[in-house]
Amino acid sequence: MTPLVCSARACRAPAEWAVVWNNPKVHHAGRRKVWLACAEHQEQLTTFVQVRGFLLEVKPVSALTPEEG
Ligand SMILES: [Zn+2]
Repeated sequence: MTPLVCSARACRAPAEWAVVWNNPKVHHAGRRKVWLACAEHQEQLTTFVQVRGFLLEVKPVSALTPEEG
């Protein structure tokens, strides 16, 4: 299995968290976009989608389902 890497720009750290979000203006209601985040960037990425009202949930990478991965 390929190691999961943080989604933050220029970050190559292993991802520990999955930030799950959906933009209702762009995505179907059931669509779940996933950003992967290392411990350092988890708060930054979470805040980015949260202030826009797009945040669905934040969970450990190990809890991702195959559909989300
Ligand atoms: Zn990172």
